[in-house]
Amino acid sequence: MSTRIPVAVLGATGMVGQRFIELLQGHPWFELVALAASEKHGGRSYAQVTPWRLPGSEMPTVAAALPVMACRPEALPAAKIVFSALPAEIAGDIEADFARAGVAVFSNAKNYRMAADVPLIVPEVNADHAAAIVQQRKQRGWPGCIVTNANCSATPLVMALKPLQEAFGVRKVLATTLQAISGAGYPGLPSYDILDNAIPYIGGEEEKMESETRKMLGTWEEGRGFTDAPLVVSAQCNRVATREGHLECASIELGRDDVNPEEIIAAWEQFTPEPQRLQLPSAPQSALVYRHEPDRPQTLRDRNAGHGMTVTLGRLRRCPILGYKFVLLGHNTIRGAAGGSLLNAELCVSKGLV
Ligand code: NAP
Repeated sequence: MSTRIPVAVLGATGMVGQRFIELLQGHPWFELVALAASEKHGGRSYAQVTPWRLPGSEMPTVAAALPVMACRPEALPAAKIVFSALPAEIAGDIEADFARAGVAVFSNAKNYRMAADVPLIVPEVNADHAAAIVQQRKQRGWPGCIVTNANCSATPLVMALKPLQEAFGVRKVLATTLQAISGAGYPGLPSYDILDNAIPYIGGEEEKMESETRKMLGTWEEGRGFTDAPLVVSAQCNRVATREGHLECASIELGRDDVNPEEIIAAWEQFTPEPQRLQLPSAPQSALVYRHEPDRPQTLRDRNAGHGMTVTLGRLRRCPILGYKFVLLGHNTIRGAAGGSLLNAELCVSKGLV
């Protein structure tokens, strides 16, 4: 791409916003030109109003000098794409305002994920759902669009399930999560509540995992819309005292009873979906990696696989109830949020939809 597309980040000061800024540094297709958050920052520079919180990196110089504007289209006139890391309480109206103003919005918020004309995309799983943008523009009468990425626990789960669905069919999934503190944003939970603790409740998370998984593994047809996959999903979500990376223990019932473990691992290892075929800039070389050691994946050791974009699998074994069980791990603020959203934007640009 000879000229980079000007982009902005909404919610730029938060946990996911900072990831966007980190990942946009030196991006070959997108140029960060504007930042926005709540009005209280009053146009002061990002460096003045934001303590950089991501371990292992410094605030990118391009962001440090940018003013932090209000989340209004007229305040960010140069941006053709906005990446939204806004809380759900306010994301709905703001994202719609940008779409109405002709901007392509790639959102991390839950507001539009289940809407009948809004694609909920993990590009390795359902890249074809991006075509729903055309119908969305017609129905809503806006020149821009809204594209969502999934909840940070549903994302790695659907990536693990997709090759199994294609090869054998999947009837039932039972998933129990151990989710990192950063999933709650910044400052997240009080340290007194989470250190030395595990909390068996994350509001709305289980419902999101169940419904979003069915939408993403389902189909999109022009004129017919989205049809959920006929799959039973049951999720239990727990917050644990890790910083980043959501670990999940899953049991599955496949569509066939005669599948052996080698076939399942081969399906995962041979998975070469569209972002990898298209060589999109944020696509990891391998969408899925299977670790054969008995004690992997581990949150601390494996969350950065593929620069945080690869989902790591392991511990495949027989389950006496559903047939098979295994463990999976995905980086919540990269694969499950900012990195996933960037990949969605790259996919839509490569398809000529944005
Ligand atoms: P966060 O750390 O709490 O950041 C929230 C951001 O929104 C901040 O930049 C904040 O800016 C801004 N904001 C708050 N109120 C605002 C207002 N009234 N107007 C404009 N901006 C406002 O949250 P987060 O974890 O980054 O999550 C952002 C979104 O991504 C949420 O919808 C979340 O559910 C979703 N998500 C998060 C993760 C994760 O792992 N954390 C994963 C997937 C999806 P100020 O500095 O101005 O307050």
